[in-house]
Amino acid sequence: MKKLMYVGFVCVLMVLVVGCGNTKKDSKEVTKERVESGSKLEENQETDKDNEETDQENDPSYYVEEGAQLSVFGYSGWNWGDTFNEEWAIVPVFKEKTNIDLKGFLSDTATDGEQAYNLMLASGELADLIFNTRKNIMRDAQDGAFVELTDLIEEHGPNIKKFFEEKPLAYKRSLSPDGSIYMIPGQSGGTAATGFFIRQDWLDNLGLEVPTTVDEFHDVLLAFKTEDANGNGDPSDEIPFFARGDAVLQDELTCMWGARNGFYEKDGKIVYGAYQPEYLEAMTHLSIWYQEGIIDAEIFTRGSKSRDILLGNNTGGSTVDWFGSTSSYNEKLKDDIPGFSFMPILPPATKEGVVTANKKRGSGNSSGGAIGITTKDPVAAMKALDFLFSEEGRILANFGVEGEDYTMVDGKPMFTEETLSQDNVLSHLRKRGIQFGWSFHQDFEYEKQWVTEVAIEGMDMYINAGILAAEAPFIDLTTDEQARVNELLTPIQSYVDEQRQLWILGVKSIDDTKDDYIAKLKELGIEEVLDIQNTAYNR
Ligand code: CA
Repeated sequence: MKKLMYVGFVCVLMVLVVGCGNTKKDSKEVTKERVESGSKLEENQETDKDNEETDQENDPSYYVEEGAQLSVFGYSGWNWGDTFNEEWAIVPVFKEKTNIDLKGFLSDTATDGEQAYNLMLASGELADLIFNTRKNIMRDAQDGAFVELTDLIEEHGPNIKKFFEEKPLAYKRSLSPDGSIYMIPGQSGGTAATGFFIRQDWLDNLGLEVPTTVDEFHDVLLAFKTEDANGNGDPSDEIPFFARGDAVLQDELTCMWGARNGFYEKDGKIVYGAYQPEYLEAMTHLSIWYQEGIIDAEIFTRGSKSRDILLGNNTGGSTVDWFGSTSSYNEKLKDDIPGFSFMPILPPATKEGVVTANKKRGSGNSSGGAIGITTKDPVAAMKALDFLFSEEGRILANFGVEGEDYTMVDGKPMFTEETLSQDNVLSHLRKRGIQFGWSFHQDFEYEKQWVTEVAIEGMDMYINAGILAAEAPFIDLTTDEQARVNELLTPIQSYVDEQRQLWILGVKSIDDTKDDYIAKLKELGIEEVLDIQNTAYNR
């Protein structure tokens, strides 16, 4: 196998000069061989088993009779910041259910996942199971780094097959542009992500109603600023709108002017938010709000502790943030700030009356699991991936160990009192390997059991109102297209970010500079990026 990897990596170098068309075929052939030899092995064991007349007919499909040990490269620093750790509480249960020993490929002190991943590829010694971003997996699959999975899923992945049937979009995400499968994608649960929150007790203090339109929202925030909403005698210590970082200005607040961030579909075409007239209108208004003192003067610099600080000292009036963590301040601050009530409200409507929440949880996440080409046991590796999508495996990945982390109540896993009483439930779960960022199907029930009533009401309000923006369509770029888009988009995004800051801070006038802005985006190649995206979208 080392020889194959060597050939593969020579090809990576050669492809730059002359191209190399055989790598993928090699990896497919190898997979096929291994699948066949794996099946024979199983047939033999099937016979042995019959001879011994053991009563193991009912072992689930993911149970590896002969046992297996698999190394796991799992570093989900891209999203969740954990490294797979064989000491986790869930690992022995994984073994019990599958007869597979999972061993960490990385030390849990690895701090740069991208670097560790590249080092592993360069060494030619790959982990059996590799969890990484879809982007990386698709790119390196072209160089023969991963086992092609189509036949393995067919023969040893009944739970993955079922998952793909139920979630056609996940199946689509698993496909490389030529229709091969190198990756099993993860699937997030839940749909509502962030929501608008406002100090209900401040509204009450000033005799104001919950704002429902962009103009009402503006007027309420201005009243917070000028009418001593917190009642401490200082008429202007309030910071009407704050956020943990300035991304909220492009991601969420733009919804009040019908704008969105990033790429999305509009009238059947893919457009880029910051290149749309609605975006410029949003920036014009947000710049005025900033000058009026409605938006935190330090929104670009205050950072991730903003919510802690400005709610804790009773000066922050409104934000947009995650439902779960933001709702929790009602409990945390109830003794320090009498009457404290920070409640979710629907996003204010545009002047045309349209209500949209720009941010939602993507149904598929951007990472997944692959099988390293050097694995000695592709069948066991497939079974390990398949287990995670089985009923038992899904409960293990979402809820942990029965009797320790959860108990079954009316057929449903419910976290124990001990789990729920943790100061930080999520962090506690992750330390046990629960909700680790490998490919699994997240069950949103896990979160509903520990977030507050207020958070659940807020999420339900957004979901029931049907106002969550449509998910950005899944656009499958070829490796070359992706490389070109990345090359063009990096300077485009820095330019957009820089201009936004200059506009909001009032350093530059939007009216005077917007023509130059559009011209500059054209010069940087935004039209080419949109062409590539639209061509791929129509494919
Ligand atoms: Ca005040």
